[in-house]
Amino acid sequence: MPGLDDIRRAVSKLLKRSGPYENIVNEFIRDLQRALISADVNVRLVFNLTKRIRERALKEQPPPGLSRREWLVKLTYDELVKLFGGEYEPEVKPPYTPYVIMMVGVQGSGKTTTVGKLAKFYRGMGYRVGVVAADTYRPGAYEQLKQLADRAGAMFYGEPGSKDPVGIARRGVEELKQRGADIVIVDTAGRHGYGEEEALLDEMKRIAEAIKPDEVVLVIDAAMGQKSYDLAKRFHEATPVGSIIVTKMDGTAKGGGALSAVAATGARIKFIGTGEDIDEIEVFRPKRFVARLLG
Ligand code: GDP
Repeated sequence: MPGLDDIRRAVSKLLKRSGPYENIVNEFIRDLQRALISADVNVRLVFNLTKRIRERALKEQPPPGLSRREWLVKLTYDELVKLFGGEYEPEVKPPYTPYVIMMVGVQGSGKTTTVGKLAKFYRGMGYRVGVVAADTYRPGAYEQLKQLADRAGAMFYGEPGSKDPVGIARRGVEELKQRGADIVIVDTAGRHGYGEEEALLDEMKRIAEAIKPDEVVLVIDAAMGQKSYDLAKRFHEATPVGSIIVTKMDGTAKGGGALSAVAATGARIKFIGTGEDIDEIEVFRPKRFVARLLG
């Protein structure tokens, strides 16, 4: 992942450096700061985090069995895990069935693609999945989702030409439940660009009232970087049953900024999208994610 990959380079440089320990720590901290800031992590978060690492690395003794450098890496691991969501392990298995997931997101964020990915993911777990095309806003969303449903082996409901997302969502959920779906995923209308959070959340509420989803999922494009904070915060406040998927982690240097901004709101990231293909989605586990970043 661009941006965040520099962290791995900072660690491998650290392990090769020689000289006084304090210099080594300072150089590593500088590299780490550069990497995180280039990944669009909020500057204040970066400075607080690196300050804590530096202080502990210089003032405390490593626990027995760890060299000072290994300990520095461990301190960094702990801080990065906190930055990206802490001990949290997402539960992706629905607690009961039928289970209705409603997807919301700004247009172009990868919402429809992600519906297809989730459908495939849950098919892979053995669930019967149905998807509803209630994005009446973007031309082409109906066809796109129909094809994705085919590829995922999911049932499909849509009303081509209709401009009534609430009605489609309601009828779709009902019909797919009747057809035996364990999980119904509803693709809703997106909105243009940033600054339309209000419209997005209003629409979300209207549809949510009609279909009473068990979970609402907000899709955020990683390229939004730390700007994701406001949207995630408002979403989190509006939707207690909500979770977040950050898409396009493969395509931008700003993924670190998006993940840390969402984590800072207290909202939960369940999955990340790592490519255009239907299989390119993974469960987001902060600890595993950070372990990979450190190499
Ligand atoms: P929607 O308007 O939010 O429904 O957006 P789409 O699902 O149509 O996706 C917009 C574009 O983003 C498409 O070209 C997708 O292939 C692309 N896309 C979606 N998710 C990912 C991802 O995780 N990585 C990459 N590289 N592209 C993605």
